Amino acid sequence: MQLRASLFCLLSLCFLGGIGRSDDRAWLPLFDGKTLEGWDLRQGSAQVVEGRLEISKKAALYNRGDVRLGMFDYFDFQTDVLTEPGASADIAFEGTLNMPQDIRVAINNSRNWTDGQPKTGSLWEVRRQFKSMVRDGQWFKLRIRRDENGAAVWVNDTLLAERSGRLGGSLTIRGNAGPAKVCFKNVRVLHLTNAKSGPIPAADTVDADIRRLTELERAEFPLLNTHIHLKGDLTLEKALQHSRETGVFYGIAANCGVYFPITTDAGIDEYIKKMEGQPCFIGMQAEGREWPTLFTKKAIARFDYIFTDAMTIVDHCGKRARLWMPEEVDIPDKQAFMELLVHTIETILDNEPVDIYANPTYLPDSIVEEYDALWTAPRVKRVIDAAARNGVAIEISNRLKLPKADFILQAKKAGVKFTLGTNNIDSKLGREEYGVQMIRECELKPADMFLPKPDGKKPVQLRGKG
Ligand SMILES: [Zn+2]
Repeated sequence: MQLRASLFCLLSLCFLGGIGRSDDRAWLPLFDGKTLEGWDLRQGSAQVVEGRLEISKKAALYNRGDVRLGMFDYFDFQTDVLTEPGASADIAFEGTLNMPQDIRVAINNSRNWTDGQPKTGSLWEVRRQFKSMVRDGQWFKLRIRRDENGAAVWVNDTLLAERSGRLGGSLTIRGNAGPAKVCFKNVRVLHLTNAKSGPIPAADTVDADIRRLTELERAEFPLLNTHIHLKGDLTLEKALQHSRETGVFYGIAANCGVYFPITTDAGIDEYIKKMEGQPCFIGMQAEGREWPTLFTKKAIARFDYIFTDAMTIVDHCGKRARLWMPEEVDIPDKQAFMELLVHTIETILDNEPVDIYANPTYLPDSIVEEYDALWTAPRVKRVIDAAARNGVAIEISNRLKLPKADFILQAKKAGVKFTLGTNNIDSKLGREEYGVQMIRECELKPADMFLPKPDGKKPVQLRGKG
């Protein structure tokens, strides 16, 4: 008897634990597939069509009834979602006015990145997705969970955001203004009764760097780092985990060019296949000056953006020189070298269809101590003018701590946009320390920051040859 009782307890524990198929009965459906029972439509349009809930025209749909979620409740919420082109919505767990730490998750599969709007899976004020993993017209799974660790968001089982200190509240679905619809089915919630409810999770117990990033995110500053490489011990998984921790969205770039990992269209194809559908931008670092001749325009345009630098030049002897390799650097005359370098940068920005000039104003180790004297005002102006007339953004490099504030202020005045980059060599990605310092020092605004162009508007499609 005793054995049977403990066996029963054991089975019950198995049943209660986990969120597998075995405890489906614990999930409470919030939509019966036929009516709007349990919901209050306070504005806009909501209807049930062929078993799905469709909202549009600024719908505000409040959940009521037995499953009202309290501010201090722990829960797991899941739904299947489909968007029509142009439609967007938010799923919010709204607190009271005095407790504004709502959990608000965006649904927006627009392929227009330049609008900067939070895309699907963004946790508002905490972490913005600049690119949706999923597309209009496809059903996808959205999951929002709040437990003792805070709030977390998944799209199709990929964890996109997690952060402590979000309180949640009552469930509301809010639609966009237009007639395009967002559709829902299998809307359900699981009360995490086995998790102990309350107390309020502590506000983010994080260091000053993360706090500064969080402040920028709350001010709707686009936190995007376009220069991350999967190098050394940095795997995609580690990069995405780091991105969730800092709240900075990453563009992960492949090095493409002579002597670099990708030298053909087939190589691009393989890289894009590996990275597609991941919560990151896919960038191309164009290397050397021959790169436009190695790949077709069509293959290049599969990247979300392209950047290059002037670290590989043709030197005074007509020799290909990589400026970070001391054995390839030959500078008999520093002034002549600077003239050649500035001319090279102008030629690159005028002729190569890139989005971003990376590692800007980099000088080889042998002359770097004279950086300030060698980068004279006329030389700085020539580089900034070339970026401005070609609409090329300038990277603020966390690793090189370049360019300096004076340069950034002048470029800002010329209307140049900026992006944060790290150019990491391993998993030490940092926390945008230099970038954040420059954003504050130079008072950069969201509009000063670069966002990748949508398909059809990329420089390689508008400017590129071939
Ligand atoms: Zn790089």
